[in-house]
Amino acid sequence: MSQNSFFEPQCPLPLASNETIRLAHGGGGHLMQQLIQDVFLEAFSNSYLNALQDSAVLPAQDGRLAMTTDSYVVQPLFFPGGDIGSLAVHGTINDLAMMGAIPRYLSAGFILEEGLPIATLKQVVSSMAKTAQDCGVHIVCGDTKVVDRGKGDQIFINTTGVGVIPRSVDIGPHRLASGDRIIVSGDLGAHGMAVLSQREGLEFSGDLVSDSAPLHTVITDLLNHNLVIHCLRDLTRGGLASALNELATAGPCTMTIEESRIPVSNPVRGACEILGLDPLYVANEGRFVMFLPPADVDEALSILHKHTVSQEAVDIGEIGAAELTPHQSLVTLRTKYGTHRILDFLSGEQLPRIC
Ligand code: MG
Repeated sequence: MSQNSFFEPQCPLPLASNETIRLAHGGGGHLMQQLIQDVFLEAFSNSYLNALQDSAVLPAQDGRLAMTTDSYVVQPLFFPGGDIGSLAVHGTINDLAMMGAIPRYLSAGFILEEGLPIATLKQVVSSMAKTAQDCGVHIVCGDTKVVDRGKGDQIFINTTGVGVIPRSVDIGPHRLASGDRIIVSGDLGAHGMAVLSQREGLEFSGDLVSDSAPLHTVITDLLNHNLVIHCLRDLTRGGLASALNELATAGPCTMTIEESRIPVSNPVRGACEILGLDPLYVANEGRFVMFLPPADVDEALSILHKHTVSQEAVDIGEIGAAELTPHQSLVTLRTKYGTHRILDFLSGEQLPRIC
């Protein structure tokens, strides 16, 4: 420190910056108000949010409420088929849809890293707003915090969703029954492989595009046709194999699926083979598995095939006998060669920072 440094002029007020996020953007002062007005209200504007009260005040709903929350830390922020903003809406809406709920409201919490370009934030927020509008949900409350440079990774988002379950709907693992067919809504592993290839700069033959998509419209259509849906689960982290294991454990019950019927696109299969990954364990963000009685399968498939998001839906297997023997494996894959392979939970993380 020089002898005269005590007298060097310093400005204690943060200068307004239109380019990057500063710590003061999370400090409750003028810069934060400006950020709320110029970025968040500009994009998300609706009567619940615009009131800017301590809580959003929402109308009472007819039916039971479903509520879920999820945090999104995907890297990179932008990938083929989506970005962290669209993902933060789709992911939470899909968890509501899997309970048969019609999504209504979302909260949005942002943790921003100092130095993040405001243009990048606006791009994410704009994608989030468009996705929410397309899905018919309002973002009704939110929060912003800023962490020091190097203490975060650009943007983390948390969304909490509230939806309404119609009175007649009862979906969950408690309804899984012996003989139920297992339907998967489309090809597997596209989201995980699209994000991974973008992050690592890998170039594979064929297009790797995320399957990120909202699932509530197709579920509502199925329910409106009075189909007996016993259970639904979206195939996110851990993929199909982890979802089946979670449900078989919750049942409890055994499940057998046929490898030859499981849809995996050629680009995903090729990329997985090169990297030594199993597509049955790779994350999806617009795929689900459905359990229903055999009598309803044909009608369910004909409805699923009318929706872009589930046009490749296929029956892949069934739930086994109700009686479990000790140490029986819960989920079994019948391979193309007629042998059986146990599909267990993963022992570790296959692909981090994918959602
Ligand atoms: Mg889920």
